[in-house]
Amino acid sequence: MYITIGTGVGAGIISNGKLLHGMLHPEGGHLLLSRHPKDSFEGACPYHKNCLEGMAAGPAIEARWGMKGAQLADRKEVWELEAYYIAQALVDYIMVLSPQRIILGGGVMHQEHLIPLVREEVTRQLGGYIKTKELEDMEHYIVLPSLNDNQGIMGALKLAVDEYQLEKIG
Ligand SMILES: [Zn+2]
Repeated sequence: MYITIGTGVGAGIISNGKLLHGMLHPEGGHLLLSRHPKDSFEGACPYHKNCLEGMAAGPAIEARWGMKGAQLADRKEVWELEAYYIAQALVDYIMVLSPQRIILGGGVMHQEHLIPLVREEVTRQLGGYIKTKELEDMEHYIVLPSLNDNQGIMGALKLAVDEYQLEKIG
């Protein structure tokens, strides 16, 4: 599973080598979240307020704290709250999809101190309910992308190549 957290939040799920697609592409960025008891921010999504995108995307960070994420790099509370919301979504994805690996990309994830907080928070929120070898090795389970921020275009090209090969087979 790949999740991009930047201007918005988007998610893609590969299952048995194919991109998961139902009546529409899944809208994993709009998973509804519980607000942190100390967070009074209403949420920035015009449709749901407190969905993942509304609580944790770049524009939500800017609206909540009055500054862009890049200017808040040394504010611990910003990233703890960010990890709280991202982890809540990941726990729900883990419960429903049981992904073998989760890749977190997008501009917000450029804050390198964020991913260890997300891993810790996912473990805490899972509460020990699921036990797998993947979850015991969080550093290899929740990871950053390895495609130099070209993962969007690389994924698009892969879809085009797959489609072309399907057509050739007829
Ligand atoms: Zn939303």
